[in-house]
Amino acid sequence: MGEASSSRPSASGLGSGPDPSRFFPNHDDVVDLVSEDGSISVTFGAKLDRSRRDLLRLLEIETEGYSADDYSVFSGKAGLALLYVHLASLRKAVDNEEDRRRFLSKAHQHLKPCLTRLRGRRVSFLCGDAGPVTIKIILDYLHSRQNSDDFEENKRRLLRIAEKSLDPSVPDELLYGRAGVLYALLLVRKECGDDVVSDEVISRVAEAIVNSGRRLAKKRRSRFNLLYEWHESEYVGAAHGLAGIFLMLLQARRFLPSGAVEKYVKPSIDELAALQLSSGNFPSSLGGVKQTRDKLVQFCHGAPGVVHLFLLAARLFPEDKVRYLEVSKRCADVSWRAGLLKKGYGLCHGAAGNAYTFLALYDITGDKELTRKALTFADFCCDRGRHGCPPPDQPFCLMNGLAGTVWFLYDVSEGGNCKFPAMVLE
Ligand SMILES: [Zn+2]
Repeated sequence: MGEASSSRPSASGLGSGPDPSRFFPNHDDVVDLVSEDGSISVTFGAKLDRSRRDLLRLLEIETEGYSADDYSVFSGKAGLALLYVHLASLRKAVDNEEDRRRFLSKAHQHLKPCLTRLRGRRVSFLCGDAGPVTIKIILDYLHSRQNSDDFEENKRRLLRIAEKSLDPSVPDELLYGRAGVLYALLLVRKECGDDVVSDEVISRVAEAIVNSGRRLAKKRRSRFNLLYEWHESEYVGAAHGLAGIFLMLLQARRFLPSGAVEKYVKPSIDELAALQLSSGNFPSSLGGVKQTRDKLVQFCHGAPGVVHLFLLAARLFPEDKVRYLEVSKRCADVSWRAGLLKKGYGLCHGAAGNAYTFLALYDITGDKELTRKALTFADFCCDRGRHGCPPPDQPFCLMNGLAGTVWFLYDVSEGGNCKFPAMVLE
């Protein structure tokens, strides 16, 4: 989400870098976040621990009795359920089995009213019905309820959503489209095993995305083998654009027809790499002057979302690992320089989401400097509310609000293997 399509064009041209009025200068002079051995310093560790517990408590209080009118993962009650499922899996959040049970119980409380309100309008994990249904399947699995009627019914519901996503009117992007359905199917397989959804169902959705991309690329005579649009714009970024769709196709690679990755997906990733701006950022959309605009540095539009595609590509294509890592490092450079956003502390377009650039790159390079950068962003988030950032429209939700900030503040000290929520699986 964000305002890529509604903002006035930036006055800055190619090479001048993101607009400094959008971000705070970062804290290069802060040195007490890490110890000499690269671990979190005692002082900052105490602050981090205190802040995230306080913020989690605040979240619990503020979302007690939260309406399920918005039942989405992105901005509604299912996103709170997903946070608690995640916390139940973390070493730093769970002191004992009782904590784990408490988090899972919280997840149930938030999810239950969502499941009775599904409207059947949107299909995706983040903004549609696939989100609550997928989380319910995972929760039942965690409670060993695979033989229950509920488990079977929700599996059937998810299959119906997958079937519906094949309709030509459904877009392909992550937030509202087929890529978001593909994520739900892959997540269920990852969390609950191969029996829950058949290969055939996943293949049909993945192939529909490839076919749709081929059709549009041909129609527009694009240099991309796979081209996608959303609301008549050819977006580049993770939320609505090429990067999010290509990432999902790579994650679904074993379900694609033989040769499709090499023939269609990888060449399109290479075309995307060529769009990287001199600052290290990516434009929000394709086409003429839009392709040179260096404006938004956030998960939904810009380098902090695109980086996750190139990091997976670096893992999967050893022959091009150096090149893809170089693209990723430049994404991290611009996320560091321009990523402490005045929009605040959220995942979609805030400091927490941008910090996953460092966490994800650390997983592949092991560069401890990236840990320091992630902790600098965590320090900023610990001081939530003290920078004059405007509160988001949904202040407690997962992708823009406090739930996402809490997710990040618990992830940051896990020591690696942190995935951007609702998109990255491996
Ligand atoms: Zn956003």
